[in-house]
Amino acid sequence: MTSTEEFIELSERRSAHNYHPLPVVIHEAQGAWVTDVEGRRYLDCLSGYSSLNFGHGNPKIIGAAQEQLTRLTLTSRAFFHDQFAAFAAGLGDLTGKDMVLPMNTGAEAVETAIKVARKWGYEVKGVPDGQANIIVMEDNFHGRTTTIVSFSTDPDAHDGFGPYTPGFKIVKYGSIEAIREAVDANTVAVMLEPIQGEAGVLVPPDGYLTQVRELCSAENILMIADEIQSGLGRTGDTFACDHEHVVPDIYVLGKALGGGVVPVSAITANEDVLGVIKPGQHGSTFGGNPLACAVANAVVELLRTGEYQERARELGAVLHDRLRALIGKGVVTVRGRGLWAGVDIDPSLATGRQVSVALMRLGVLAKDTHGSTVRLAPPIVVSEEDLLWAVDRLAEALAEFAK
Ligand SMILES: *Cc1c(COP(=O)(O)O)cnc(C)c1O
Repeated sequence: MTSTEEFIELSERRSAHNYHPLPVVIHEAQGAWVTDVEGRRYLDCLSGYSSLNFGHGNPKIIGAAQEQLTRLTLTSRAFFHDQFAAFAAGLGDLTGKDMVLPMNTGAEAVETAIKVARKWGYEVKGVPDGQANIIVMEDNFHGRTTTIVSFSTDPDAHDGFGPYTPGFKIVKYGSIEAIREAVDANTVAVMLEPIQGEAGVLVPPDGYLTQVRELCSAENILMIADEIQSGLGRTGDTFACDHEHVVPDIYVLGKALGGGVVPVSAITANEDVLGVIKPGQHGSTFGGNPLACAVANAVVELLRTGEYQERARELGAVLHDRLRALIGKGVVTVRGRGLWAGVDIDPSLATGRQVSVALMRLGVLAKDTHGSTVRLAPPIVVSEEDLLWAVDRLAEALAEFAK
């Protein structure tokens, strides 16, 4: 089997159609560039939905993984292993929190945050058993488990998977008034993405995160920030909450924490919150395994100097400048922060999918979301020259549709 068509035909025939991939079959990658099975090269402007913030084959991350791979990969948490202490302390320090609880996928970390918030509600806040509620946002994306899709407002994610888990109140994103109205005596948490990624890189109004923080503190409610996609350098800060100097009670992390190598997720919080979990009450066989910890330790090390954050901020300014210049030339609006942009395409010209396919033919990999948005999130290691080249390809694609 050698051709793109053969790989796609067999993949589509023998796998569930839970994704709608672009017709490209990737064989290898380095830095910001991938190569397909026919030898064509593409600039990766998706980065595995921000899992590859530090680039494909990052030498520090791959080096740590290779060293760990041949020495010790799994113990289960029945025992300690020698990568775990550095992981807990390092990720705790990066987030300024006392404690971490490692899982694997993002959805598992979100589930963990929900469970911890409920338990904290019953044991610390004194909410009557079984009565806790968590305030979540319209157009959220927190993963795909049955509980998480219970409070999704996206019909594709939600419909047909009931019965649904109760205990969530959905409010409008970006409105502090909406949260204030939803709060009651049994509210244990407000959970949000500081920038909504899947919804199309929606940035809330300035001051919103600060207002949420103040409201949560005043009402004795936990603020949970799902930074799975927005965190770890993407927006030009370590966390998107940093933009407003806001510190949530619980950070939810994933994606880039695994360095593009293995799934690694975690929540971090102070002891007054995460201390409610006792032995046997929550866990995961692979959570915090030696390979995962070695990779995450390399990621945390990369973020310690701030150079990736600064690079995302500087290149992000260039990216947003150039994208804004396309407004009126096939682009309706541009949103985002740092090296992360949601570009709304003029629907009279083309769909986001059509633009993504056209970009692919021109050597740029990006993905549409919600019909008319194209999301751009190249690895932070991308060169400025390559980044500008990608924006030129977008301009070229849009010009073709305008003909
Ligand atoms: C991707 C994502 C998740 C889910 O992570 P998985 O690893 O796919 O389970 C949750 N929240 C946000 C904000 C995400 O972007």
